[in-house]
Amino acid sequence: MTWETVIGLEVHVQLLTRSKMFCGCANRFGAPPNTLVCPVCLGLPGALPVPNEHAIRLATRAALALGCTVHRTSVFARKNYFYPDLPKGYQISQFDRPLATKGSLVIESPERGRLTVGITRLHVEEDAGKSLHDRFPGRTAVDLNRAGAPLVEIVSEPDMRSPAEARAYLTTLKQVLLYCEISDCNMEEGSLRVDANVSVRQAGDTRLGTKTEVKNMNSFANVERALTVERDRQVEVMEAGGRVEQVTMLFNAASGEVRPMRSKEESHDYRYFPDPDLPPLALTQLWVEEQHAALPELPDAKRDRFMTIHGLPPYDAGVLVAERPIADYFEAVVEEGVEPKAASNWVINDAMRGYNESGTFSVTPDRLASLVALVKDGTVSNQAAKRIFPELANSAESSRAVAERLGLLQVGDLDALGGWVDEVLAANPKEVERYKGGEVKLIGFFVGQVMKKSQGKADPKKIQPVLQEKLSS
Ligand code: ADP
Ligand code: MG
Ligand code: ZN
Repeated sequence: MTWETVIGLEVHVQLLTRSKMFCGCANRFGAPPNTLVCPVCLGLPGALPVPNEHAIRLATRAALALGCTVHRTSVFARKNYFYPDLPKGYQISQFDRPLATKGSLVIESPERGRLTVGITRLHVEEDAGKSLHDRFPGRTAVDLNRAGAPLVEIVSEPDMRSPAEARAYLTTLKQVLLYCEISDCNMEEGSLRVDANVSVRQAGDTRLGTKTEVKNMNSFANVERALTVERDRQVEVMEAGGRVEQVTMLFNAASGEVRPMRSKEESHDYRYFPDPDLPPLALTQLWVEEQHAALPELPDAKRDRFMTIHGLPPYDAGVLVAERPIADYFEAVVEEGVEPKAASNWVINDAMRGYNESGTFSVTPDRLASLVALVKDGTVSNQAAKRIFPELANSAESSRAVAERLGLLQVGDLDALGGWVDEVLAANPKEVERYKGGEVKLIGFFVGQVMKKSQGKADPKKIQPVLQEKLSS
């Protein structure tokens, strides 16, 4: 039997604000436990929440970047449950009237190519604290620094058809959120968390199968792994004639296993109701339009522009727009007069090595441009330029000075070329014989040998005539 996998993702993202969602406490990771707290986020009696405008701004921008409709009025609701890291006994969230609904995200599926994943809704909520199980032996400690941190939850439609597609969705979503500076999306620090819903059904069936929800993955790679394990388990159950039970599963990164949560832990009736401490959130159209205008060019639009305006192949465009600093650096190099495809090659093959290590580009765009100009006018070979490039990092020495210092100036001088050619021909009598016998494609071999002999300094355009002259005599 052929089974189809169906996946929908719920992603929680912490917003990049200075303070928490409903109080003035700092919104910061890594402070000593329970030092970033106040009566509001501790849920002390009489303390009242006040919404953080910047959090609403970032949430609205995220919604607009995902093509959602932002509602002029949304409502904060209390989601009631008991857990030690939830001081108030309820979480302020949004339920039946979320900030935004009905958006979409275009992703590149490894199996199906470019496709659109629907975004069901995006709502604002506050985070809970953290239970620490490894701090004291046999006990659980609670850190409330995170309690009340601002979050958005982004819920997708069940539009994905494989674990790899789910990963592509996450990668693209993160890219958009980073471009818009909405979150740092650091999964290890918990600023991006994924609940992955998966079901299987017979190929061709249009009804959805019973889903399970997998939690506790600490990387996108592990989301893909966990979904694969859980999908395979469901297929096995179905093949054996059984039925999938709707449960929540926990992924264990160490073992790669997925096991059900104890059912007690997940049997919730949240008894949602509008929070009486917070009036409905009313946004003016003008304010929403301002947030729209504040969005940067998004990765997809940038990729299109790099292909149409700069004439780059799709692969290059995709690599360059992966992160905003890379795209900005590329455009700055083009701005300095470098032909776009050459600039793209330099950024992808050379400049990105340092960027991936240090997170910055240490050769300024104008210095890279001056190096490319030296290649263009024949002062240095492309090979030599690749050796000069790293020397330009964090230094004021000009490309030409580096070329001179390293003895990399290209030699077009006919006497020098003639000397190398003579040596190469003397060292390869058999090939000379074959060339003279009609195997003219060996010219490429000779050019390569001369380049080698000259340690990359010979001007390749000038070698060939010298070779031909000597071989025909
Ligand atoms: P719940 O009420 O259990 O949270 P929702 O209907 O709100 O379920 O959906 C939560 C997430 O699960 C969404 O991302 C949705 O796309 C996804 N989802 C819903 N039904 C299925 C299904 N049968 N298979 C896979 N994913 C699903
Ligand atoms: Mg849910
Ligand atoms: Zn507080």
